[in-house]
Amino acid sequence: MRSEDSNFISEITKKKAELIHHGKIFVPDSIKLPYPLSSSTAGPGAGKKALALSFGGTRLKLGVTKEKDSKFSLRKNGEEYQILKSGTVFVDGVKIIPTLLHAPNQAFVNLQDSCIYNCEFCATPMLESQKEKDPDQIVRMILKAAEDGDFQSVAITSGIVESPKETFDDILEVVRKVKKNLGDVEVGVEPYVMKPEDIERLHDAGATEIKINIETFDKNIFDKLCPELDYDHILKMLEHAVKVFGRGKVTTNIIIGLGESDENVLEGLEHFAEMGVVAVIRVLRINDYNHARIVKALGHEIQNVLPQRMIRLAQEQKRILENHNLSTGTFKTMCHACGCCDIVPFWDV
Ligand code: SF4
Repeated sequence: MRSEDSNFISEITKKKAELIHHGKIFVPDSIKLPYPLSSSTAGPGAGKKALALSFGGTRLKLGVTKEKDSKFSLRKNGEEYQILKSGTVFVDGVKIIPTLLHAPNQAFVNLQDSCIYNCEFCATPMLESQKEKDPDQIVRMILKAAEDGDFQSVAITSGIVESPKETFDDILEVVRKVKKNLGDVEVGVEPYVMKPEDIERLHDAGATEIKINIETFDKNIFDKLCPELDYDHILKMLEHAVKVFGRGKVTTNIIIGLGESDENVLEGLEHFAEMGVVAVIRVLRINDYNHARIVKALGHEIQNVLPQRMIRLAQEQKRILENHNLSTGTFKTMCHACGCCDIVPFWDV
């Protein structure tokens, strides 16, 4: 799937982008799924049941819908599956793949399902089942997942429940205990960091990769959607994270579909690559939890990102990363290593 020609776009990548754009698939009750559906409790996809699939060397997660007339549906075909588009075969040779904890091959845990911050695109604060989880319970889940033959790495994210400090301390405790039990396993963390020393403490505890989310490089949009967070503080923390974790070991989400321009996204990708940060370009998932909130905060309607835009930006990002001797391939945890939700440079383009 990884191609040498930067202008070549495979049919598989075009189809993946179209499926990400649509976002959901109908699975008839007659299909007995070999693995349980994956559920997400963090970020823009929170609250949805999803199916992880692989085909043509790529991976994809799609929300599962009960709407029979949905454009895309799944059909069993011998030992494998087909994705149908309006009733005709769109992708053949599809496999359903297991998600260990949330992601294929990763024990990717969310410490807390709720959040005191109210970023308008994020469904986490809106979820009904907001159970307190204690760090030891999370560590046990990770250690159990690590016994699975598919296990490769650990990733830890969290909503902020009481205070950033308490949540940070919980993440730190989980990292320490996981490393104590699993030795040199790769551990990615997605924390809210208050000060540079937090980043050092996570690294000293054994975390190997870090994601600190800027969400959008457009400061005007950021201020409207994440009014309780500080854009400049996040940029400073990312810069410090590269000093501690190294180039190609720090990442950040840039959500597209909020009304930002391509120029702004490219400026952000360039800015981060210059720093040594490999951003994830994440297509906004519009759902019942976030649609009205985003429209109200932005003051305008939003539209699904077109497949061509996803591919174009991924190609541009690949070029930018190459110019800075960076790659998505240096990550062993979180989204670059998973590849289910995005058109990933060096993988899909
Ligand atoms: S790409 Fe990221 S958000 Fe999507 S399933 Fe994989 S780890 Fe989760």
